[in-house]
Amino acid sequence: MDIDINSGLFSRETLAGYDRGRMSSAVVTVVGLGAGGCNVVQTLALAGVREIRLIDFDTVEPSNLTRSPLFDRRRLAGKRTRYKAREAALGALACSYAADPIVRFAIARFEEVGLGALVGSDVVIAAVDSLRIRALVADATRLLGIPMVELGFSGSRGQISVFPNTGGDEPCWRCLHPEVVDGIASCTLYAQGVVESGAIPATQPLAAVQGALAAEHGIQAVHGRFPLGGRAFFLDLHTGQSRVLHLTTDPDCPGVHRRLVGVRPLAVRSEEPVRAVLEAVREFTTEPVMHLPAPYVVEMPCAACGSPIEIGKPVWAVTQPPRCAKCPDLPRLGDSGIVVASTVAGDDPLAQRRCRALGLPPAAIFEVEDRATGAMHVVSLAGGLDDLFETRRRESNAPASLGINKDEEHRQEEPT
Ligand SMILES: [Zn+2]
Ligand SMILES: [Zn+2]
Repeated sequence: MDIDINSGLFSRETLAGYDRGRMSSAVVTVVGLGAGGCNVVQTLALAGVREIRLIDFDTVEPSNLTRSPLFDRRRLAGKRTRYKAREAALGALACSYAADPIVRFAIARFEEVGLGALVGSDVVIAAVDSLRIRALVADATRLLGIPMVELGFSGSRGQISVFPNTGGDEPCWRCLHPEVVDGIASCTLYAQGVVESGAIPATQPLAAVQGALAAEHGIQAVHGRFPLGGRAFFLDLHTGQSRVLHLTTDPDCPGVHRRLVGVRPLAVRSEEPVRAVLEAVREFTTEPVMHLPAPYVVEMPCAACGSPIEIGKPVWAVTQPPRCAKCPDLPRLGDSGIVVASTVAGDDPLAQRRCRALGLPPAAIFEVEDRATGAMHVVSLAGGLDDLFETRRRESNAPASLGINKDEEHRQEEPT
């Protein structure tokens, strides 16, 4: 039986106020493809969101499968490394009812793809476990003026909150969570061996409820509507108790309450040295200093003996407290401090390093300060979505076909 894509298919959604024109050009980015994210994406795909971008570096564990409807059960026995972002993307493509769906996925940390990955999104949905990453998504969406929907769980309780990020004095996610630290502070926590705060993982019923709520508010945001804007909604699946919290702006919020405007695209690629950026901005600056999107860790103390170890990575790439080879299991003695760089000027040896090594991927958006005038200029590196994501489209819209490349399906089954 053929499905006429133009008649009846979205009749219920249209009655509910989803505009077909809007949905068929909608771009929604989901960060974190665990139970919550996977359920969000399934609903977005069924509802006909045209383009879905997915960001997650993590691999699929057996415990994810019972809470992630887009992960293919048949792949349970395979030996191939399974990435959440990839499987969610292929699953979304298979169940999407958009006329010409596009899925893009990045098997990467959120910080690794940078702000450029979010450009063009109508809304960003943060479904990551890590509160630290949620703080980064909150800052990124605020800087770009993109609405953010956030969801989280603990036990039988779920919560979602909506931040229109239209500007002005509206609260951000970090106003709500001033205790969550990022950048160098989180690096210090790593060094001290403190585990990132996480919640009790969700079961499928809770992930489905929260995923549906987040997807609905994501779709509302696509239409420029924010019925839950500036509020957090809490629901206990067991007791049925719910509560809506009106969020207020924290004057001491550690997050960013500003927007990057007037981005000047540079022809410099992320493989070129920082020096090339500093030369390119000479056109409109006299004493340029690059502000890195995340601190660059030059040196960190050994977690055991405290002696300095050379690191040379952006702070987010330091995922474990370093140890020197000579003291693998000794108890921790001291802390010699962490040496980081947050800015790079022309005479700095770091200016010789490639942009990417300093945490600037293709299409990165960042600021350059003119020390002569104090003015900040927003610039972007060369590159686009194809440099950050793998993109898949449907080969055929024939309803009988899943539309997934056959080779891809076979490769899934191959033992490695
Ligand atoms: Zn705030
Ligand atoms: Zn040591």
